[in-house]
Amino acid sequence: MKEYQPITKEIIEKLRDIVGPSYIKTDTDVLVQYQTDYESDPKRFHMPEAAVIPADAEEIAAVLKLANTYGFPVTVRSGGTSLADGAIPVCGGLVLSMERLNTILELNEDGMYMVVEAGVRTVDLQRRAREAGLLYAGDPSSSESCLIGGNLATNAGGLKAVRYGVTRNQVYAVEMVTPTGDIVELGACLKKCSTGYSLEQLVIGSEGTLGIITKATLKLSPLPPYKFDVLAIYTEPDTALEMVPRLLKAGIEPTSVEYMDNSYVRGCADYCGYTNMPHYEDGMYVIITVESFREEELDTRMETVCQVCEASGAAEVLEADERVWNMRRNCQTSVEQISKVSLTDDIVVPVHNIATTIEHIMEVGKNYPFQVKINAHIGDGNLHIVLCKMDMSDEEWDKNVEAFHQDVYAYTYAAGGRLAGEHGIGNKKLAYMEKFTPAGELNMMKTIKRAMDPNTILNPGKLIEA
Ligand SMILES: Cc1cc2nc3c(=O)[nH]c(=O)nc-3n(C[C@H](O)[C@H](O)[C@H](O)COP(=O)(O)OP(=O)(O)OC[C@H]3O[C@@H](n4cnc5c(N)ncnc54)[C@H](O)[C@@H]3O)c2cc1C
Repeated sequence: MKEYQPITKEIIEKLRDIVGPSYIKTDTDVLVQYQTDYESDPKRFHMPEAAVIPADAEEIAAVLKLANTYGFPVTVRSGGTSLADGAIPVCGGLVLSMERLNTILELNEDGMYMVVEAGVRTVDLQRRAREAGLLYAGDPSSSESCLIGGNLATNAGGLKAVRYGVTRNQVYAVEMVTPTGDIVELGACLKKCSTGYSLEQLVIGSEGTLGIITKATLKLSPLPPYKFDVLAIYTEPDTALEMVPRLLKAGIEPTSVEYMDNSYVRGCADYCGYTNMPHYEDGMYVIITVESFREEELDTRMETVCQVCEASGAAEVLEADERVWNMRRNCQTSVEQISKVSLTDDIVVPVHNIATTIEHIMEVGKNYPFQVKINAHIGDGNLHIVLCKMDMSDEEWDKNVEAFHQDVYAYTYAAGGRLAGEHGIGNKKLAYMEKFTPAGELNMMKTIKRAMDPNTILNPGKLIEA
């Protein structure tokens, strides 16, 4: 990895001039909070040398100009909920926290858009849209803790992606500071546009390697007033998963189709303190949400969903109550009760291959000494595999995780899939990105990175080896 200029006293002085004395941090007991994001393995933590909390795009631009002059690395941090080690300053240097850019600037009801600074919490802008009778459809399970800039940088998915798409489908335009310190506006609030490269889309999902997003114009949708939630419980994994194509073909247009394997059903029920969940011992849960603008069509659509579930072998079909959604939202946190160190993976395959992929992973998992758990946004082919270290030694854990990943990723690519459906590559999957990405595609990504960030100061050690 490239050698970077350490952050000297002289650099600290200049940073202090830019952000003000209260917003530069150098004390170890403060910096310690930035050494990890949602990574649980201390071997992967990394301390920054300093952190800044700028107020606006102008200060961010000045920080990046300074980083280019001196050659120190900058890692952007929003909510720090990355599951790909994206916000960890793996090369040391400076962490730049987005927390002060937290204003909702405009909500236009007739134009159905809102303009927000990048440090607004996702749940706050969702709430603000709802208050105006509108919907911001990006909905990662971490919405209480993550910031919209982090969602844009990772192209977050979440619980409503089947119907509304992922974060990039909710964006008209962004304001960004380039790695060399220019403030640029990309995109426009237009329904259609064929005016040159779609640069706002290039930046979305670039994981802080091509620029720091400071502002976004987000699309809002009409808020459907009616909905129902169905819980289909399966006791055979193949039947649970084969219902997905049937459901999608039935013309229902579900908002969510979520899957929890039985270890999650038990783990999340225990975590949430629910003692009488149906089929606790042997059930796999599929939660289906359907939204509608017309109350009178709810019954017939619910009937169709139930018929599809029953025809595909569901052991029981019930109305899903808030407990089931609470369990689904707590999948990630419930794992912390089982194992101090765990690894959450995120792969995506074509929807029609999700059943065989999950079966393959569960079969492969039997050859390893760790517990393998799966939850999935099955309606969009995106699954999360969690491996629990328990009391395994570091050596045994590393060796087995590596072998498991080689197998699972090779299978994923053979099935037409990719390494990440919504969490991104971060630092965690850097080596696999090099290995599995077709050469032409990887070369193009590296060419773009080198052109935009000639001194590789922005988020080095993430996404691609630049
Ligand atoms: C409990 C839990 C549930 C989750 N559920 C989901 C889910 O349903 N769907 C999903 O997609 N993800 C989910 N995640 C993963 C995570 O929440 C997302 O990746 C989220 O988008 C990260 O946002 P953040 O604000 O925490 O960003 P951070 O973790 O701070 O940063 C993520 C990456 O983006 C970069 N970055 C951050 N802000 C900016 C910016 N303004 N400009 C440029 N780059 C920036 C960082 O450098 C880093 O590489 C979950 C995580 C947890 C812990």
